Amino acid sequence: MDNVLKFSRGRVPLLISMPHAGLRLTPAVEAGLVDEALSLPDTDWHIPHLYDFAAELGASTLAAEYSRFVIDLNRPSDDKPLYAGATTGLFPSILFDGVPLFKDGLAPSAEERATYLEQIWTPYHQMLEQELARLRDEFGYALLFDAHSIRGHIPHLFEGRLPDFNLGTFNGASCDQELAKRLEATCAQAGDYSHVLNGRFKGGHITRHYGDPANNIHAVQLELVQATYMDEFVPFRYRPDLAEPTRVVLRQLVEGMIEWGKIKYGC
Ligand SMILES: [Zn+2]
Repeated sequence: MDNVLKFSRGRVPLLISMPHAGLRLTPAVEAGLVDEALSLPDTDWHIPHLYDFAAELGASTLAAEYSRFVIDLNRPSDDKPLYAGATTGLFPSILFDGVPLFKDGLAPSAEERATYLEQIWTPYHQMLEQELARLRDEFGYALLFDAHSIRGHIPHLFEGRLPDFNLGTFNGASCDQELAKRLEATCAQAGDYSHVLNGRFKGGHITRHYGDPANNIHAVQLELVQATYMDEFVPFRYRPDLAEPTRVVLRQLVEGMIEWGKIKYGC
């Protein structure tokens, strides 16, 4: 398999990861999906576009090309559940709303899954690891921003409506507390938006695995409610009228993280 990820190297010690942005399907997955899954409803839609200011800020970016319906890059390779209660796995078998993802008997075989793990999951994680190591070698520290988005209301996964900006630091384990405070303050100042730190979404596998503040790698996940920049239902249209003010805050968060690193580490 080729073109499993899109990577761009920047010039500041921050990497933005976009593990659920992918839209590609393998033939086996495409043939097996139930009709309502073909529109890829659980995608983190338009994330590369939403964060296209990253290049200007000098951040590195890494984005998945394959859909999470093929393999979920924000799950550990042993598929240990991230959350108590309802969640989706490394090889999802249900949609977010709880209905089966594949037609009866048409889920990918064990051999196909092993290929996805080796040829899609592994290269993404190798790239993440290598780039974080390069940044830390070069600058003495590395910052990781894991960028996600989700429908604001999914009764199968959580009660009620999510706050607009859901910051996750694995309950404080994935980054310096001062950085988390700074990002929270940025959200609090963004008048029309609500936010929470370590609410329903505390950071998935990527945030938990790579965040290592004792060794100067600081990771934060943002789960952004999609209604802040798009129509949440088919055809999942990007809405510039909604997105522009939201992008102002996203940019402040990423800039704030870069700025925090400069102050903390003096470079
Ligand atoms: Zn996501």
